[in-house]
Formats: sequence, C-alpha cells, structure tokens
Amino acid sequence: MEELLKSLDPALELLDERIEEGSIELHVKRNTLKETCPYCGEESGSVHSVHRKRIHDLPVQEKLLTLVLERRIFFCKNPQCKHKTFIEELHFIDGKCARRTKRLDERIRDIALKMSARSAKKVVNSGLTVISDDTILRILKKTESM
Ligand SMILES: [Zn+2]
Repeated sequence: MEELLKSLDPALELLDERIEEGSIELHVKRNTLKETCPYCGEESGSVHSVHRKRIHDLPVQEKLLTLVLERRIFFCKNPQCKHKTFIEELHFIDGKCARRTKRLDERIRDIALKMSARSAKKVVNSGLTVISDDTILRILKKTESM
C-alpha cells in the first residue's frame, strides 16, 4: 500500500486502512511541514484547518480503492499577499474539486474512447469504479478540450 501511495505522491503517509470484501479505504495525509502559497510563492507551515476529502483511485486486487485524505488549509503569513489562506495542492488530481485520481480518469477515458458511453459505463462499473454516464461524458469532454 505504501508503494501505491508513493507512486501518487511521495509525501503521502498512511494513517489507517480499512479493508472490506469489495473495497479498500486508505486514510492518508501529506507529511510535508510547509507548503507554498500558490498566490505569492511564500512558504507557510501554519495550518488553518483540515478537511476530509474522498478520492477514488484505481482498484487494488480487484477491490475498489478510496483515499480519505486529511487535506490541509494553510495560513499565508505574507502581509503583501491578498489571500489569507490557501489549500494544499495535490498533483494527482485535476483541479480542486476532482473526486478521482488522474490515473483513474485516464483509465476511464481509454475505455470510453473505444466504445459507446453505455458500454463504457458497464465496463467501468464492473470493477474499476462506480460512476454515471454523465461522468464518463465529462471525462471525454475534458479530453477534447486538452
Ligand atoms: Zn500568499
């Protein structure tokens, strides 16, 4: 599991794991002491708050994998900066609100490009993850705009 996490982000640390019959939940956090404010570039080590974020990743041993991430929001201490807080950046998801890892989205896209959305949904939902037609279409649309 550790290796799987490191391949997503070397800073990820495993806090707890829950293995059920068809699913695995990994509770993780990033173990960096400081993060850089994306607005002004100054580093900060002072945590404002922590939020739980659920992110779906590729299955492991045919079990659906979900990361439960303790995602931190930092204070920016730079008086010149217009932002008082910033959220730590995650390179393995696309954008702030993504609920799936990039590598899971890529796998879904590969499947969806080869068949109709309806067949893709069947294939994707039989073991890869649980998503709707709309999500598949959204992933495909994102590909077109790249
Ligand atoms: Zn700043």
